[in-house]
Formats: sequence, structure tokens, C-alpha cells
Amino acid sequence: MQYRTVKQHDRIPTVSAIAKLRAGFKCEIQGCDYEPFIGIYNLPYVEVHHIERLADGGKDTLENVACLCPKHHREIHFGLNKERLKEILLEKRKNTEK
Ligand SMILES: [Zn+2]
Ligand SMILES: [Zn+2]
Repeated sequence: MQYRTVKQHDRIPTVSAIAKLRAGFKCEIQGCDYEPFIGIYNLPYVEVHHIERLADGGKDTLENVACLCPKHHREIHFGLNKERLKEILLEKRKNTEK
């Protein structure tokens, strides 16, 4: 059996890191044409959103998170169409294989 030394920068993958990988570092709103810039970790810059807010009892699980571009992330929090965007993500998670 091999043991690996855990270094400070070897962070355990978090739900948000996996959510970004799952989405291929792309916004999960269909038809989004946002081109992410390269972030400080040398990966496309995208954000992770909790579909049901943690404050409202939403869980920090892969079923409850989505990868969004900064534009859609702002929109889903503050946009007139936020409920519609939420529906899109809920639909998407329903179709995600667990
Ligand atoms: Zn959010
Ligand atoms: Zn987007």
C-alpha cells in the first residue's frame, strides 16, 4: 500500500471543485456564450452556485450545486428571470446521474 504525503496545497476536493470539473468548467445555463477568462489557478474562471440557498436549508452536495459563469451567477441571484434560471438548473440536476 502506498501512502502519499499530504502537503498544504493538496486540498481535499470540495463539492465546488467537483461541480466545476463535472461541468467541464463551463456555465450550465444552456446556450450561454460566456467565454471564461483564465483564473489564478490556471483554469477557466467559473463560479459555483447553490440551487437551494444554504440559508434556506439547501445542502452543500453535488445535487444542489451548479457551475455558472459570473454573469449568470449574478443573474440567478439578482435578475428578474432568476426563478426561470433556477428551474433550468433543477431540471438539469434531475437528469444528472447520481
Ligand atoms: Zn450563488
Ligand atoms: Zn452563463
